[in-house]
Formats: sequence, structure tokens, C-alpha cells
Amino acid sequence: MGIDGLMKFLTPLHRARRHGIAALSVGLGALLAWPMPASAAAIQSVSIDGNAITLAFDRAVDGASGLVLDGPRRLAVDIAGLTAGSASASGGPVTQTRIGQVRPGVGRIVFDLAGYSVVSSAALTPDRRTLTLQLTDSDARAFAHAARVGRVAYAQPVALADAAVGRGGVTVPLDAPEPYRLPIPRVEGRADKPLVVIDAGHGGHDPGSLSLDGRYKEKDASLAIAKALRDELLASGRVRVAMTRSDDRFLVLQERREIARRLHADLFISIHCDSAPGSQASGATVYTLSETSSDRVAAALAAKENKADVINGVDLGAQSNDVSSILIDLTQRETMNSSSRFADLVQREMTDEGISFKTTYHRFAGLAVLKAPDVPAVLIETGYITDPNDLHLLFSREYQHRVAMGVSHAVEAHFARRLGRTDVAMAE
Ligand code: ZN
Repeated sequence: MGIDGLMKFLTPLHRARRHGIAALSVGLGALLAWPMPASAAAIQSVSIDGNAITLAFDRAVDGASGLVLDGPRRLAVDIAGLTAGSASASGGPVTQTRIGQVRPGVGRIVFDLAGYSVVSSAALTPDRRTLTLQLTDSDARAFAHAARVGRVAYAQPVALADAAVGRGGVTVPLDAPEPYRLPIPRVEGRADKPLVVIDAGHGGHDPGSLSLDGRYKEKDASLAIAKALRDELLASGRVRVAMTRSDDRFLVLQERREIARRLHADLFISIHCDSAPGSQASGATVYTLSETSSDRVAAALAAKENKADVINGVDLGAQSNDVSSILIDLTQRETMNSSSRFADLVQREMTDEGISFKTTYHRFAGLAVLKAPDVPAVLIETGYITDPNDLHLLFSREYQHRVAMGVSHAVEAHFARRLGRTDVAMAE
């Protein structure tokens, strides 16, 4: 589905609940593993009777899960094997109902909630055509807890659930799952050195952009370049290094920047490749964060790179409300300035290594992965996977090494400058 379809889930923004957000990836893995039925079901009706919500489908669906979202309060129910239909229902605890598509084969029904309602039980009938959710009135604390818990499976996919099907259908008691733990990667290098977190874009079920023939994936090039950069930085001996991922795994964008924050990183570098099917675009680009994307190209890129989170049902602007106090605002402004200066260094040093940039090399975009308010961060699009020449380069060790050399030199210059500025400040 297109960005437009996805975008309808993006508003309004809700407050960040990092653990809840991150936990979604666990649920999504299961969701994606579900076999898709030969033909998708459509929604027949949504009815609300007191605190009970009944969803009727025109044919069997494959599974159901849901999550509670805060600010504003919503219940999102994802149905595997459902195409988007249309239905409007309100009443009782529900003020409004919307239906959309999370990804092909997975439909989502969003219920706007009037109060602090949580799902106390869920039941899918044996013919898998009717899902009933029982809501319970709770309070702000219980609701916030439910939001932190993240995705809860209401009905297992057919293959897993067969054994559990009883005469009365499947009723899943909704106990809180294991608390989510952020995967904290290993830090390499000398303890007294500043820490650079390298983020290889995409991974796992999210391939990123593809080459025109579909054979080459952005996630592989980004990981190879990230590893080359890690090796180069460690060889320099001037910084410590950690990687958000060093294998083919999926992380939501908030996890990536949260890893950098938890490790108290001094610099965050996200490695990606660009795509522009049907055009002649080529060359590298460096992006830094701004509140408003600087141009339409940057905005489109933000939509593309942020999509990994949309797939997980997370609002892109989730952190914005948190970044509201003046103190954080000032920190973020300084962080943005530092990021911009580093981006200039990256462009200069990569150019020195013979890497060509697009004319407008330094754009600003509202990239979710860069939104840690206190860690200077850049996102480097290392070339166009859709350009035959760039594609060849992106997957060549020689080019990967040159990118790593350029960025490594920029990192050295960045920290040398920073130290210099500290000395000046201390002398005053
Ligand atoms: Zn990317």
C-alpha cells in the first residue's frame, strides 16, 4: 500500500512509550510469520454493545492481535487475513472507528476511546469469522500500563491454534507478556574514548530499498558498509564503537536511537542507500534532523525511511510531545547544530575519498531514527541502489571501504574540533 494509506495511522500523535513501542517488533514477527489465506476476508460489521465490541468478517480470518495506544487513547486491532473494508461504529467506550491496512494481508481497526478502557478478554469463534472483545473500564495508571505492554495476541494463527480450539472457540486470557528489554549491543574500544553508535539501516523482514531487478537489498549493503565503518573506526583507536545491529535482524527506529541514548553515545551514524526507480538519480546524500523537512524530496525520504515504524503501527511523531520542555528544546537545537557540522565533515571527507554526492548534499528531514534529542546524529544515504553504477559500487568492498575511510576521517575531525572547543571554553 502507498504512503498515503499508511499516513492515516500517523495522526494524531501520541506520547512516547518507548518500551511499548519497541515491544511491537516482537509481535510483528509472529504476525508476519502467519500464513496468509488464499483470499482475504473483508469486514462485514462492527457492532458495539455496552463494553463488548463484535467484529464480523465475511470469511475466516487468520489471527488477531491488538495494542492500546495513549495520547489520544486508542485501541488498535490487527487482523491477519483482512483487507481494509469500511465500517463506522461508535457508542459506549468507543467514540469513533476507523479501518485501514497495516500491510498487505493485515487489516487494522482503530477504536478511539472515550475513557480508560482496556481489553479484558478476546474470543474468536471456531469458524474464525467473528471476533469479540470485552472492554473493561480502568484508570489512567492501568491504561498506561496496558499501553506499555504493547501488542497482545488475541487469537493465534490457524496452524498454531488448532490444538487449542475447544467447543466454545478460543478465548485468550490477556495476561501481561514478558516485559520488553532493549537489545543493548556490545561496545568495543578503549573506555576513555568517545562512543560512536553505527546504525545499519533496515534488516530482518524490512529489506529497505531494492535494486531494480529486486535481487539486491538495501539492508545488506547498509550492514556491509556499517561493518566496514566499524572496522575502520576501531583501527583508528580514537573512538569506541557499538552497532545497533551486526546481523540481519529487525529493529524499530525508536530502538535504534534509544540504544544510542542508553549507551550515552557521542555520535550516531545511520547508514542507508537511496532509491528512485525510473530516474537517473545517483550519488550520496547526508541528512540531519530538522523539525520540518527542508524540501519535498527530503520529506518523501523521511516517509520512506520511517515506514519501518509505520508497519509496526507506531506513530512517527511519537517523541515529539516529549520534546516539549524548553530544556530539551535547547539541547536538541545544540544537537542539531552539532549534527549539521558533522554532516559537513562527512561530505568533505567522503568527497576526498572520491565519492560523488548529489548536488544538494545536505538535506534536513524529519527522520525518526535521528530524533534522539541529545545525541548528534546523521543519516548517510551512501548511493542509489536503483542506479546501476551506484548498485555496483554499494556492493563492492572497495567502495564500502572508501565510504568507511571518509566517514572515519570525519569522525576524527569532529571529535578533534569538539576537544578544541572544550579547551577554549576552559581557558576563558
Ligand atoms: Zn533506508
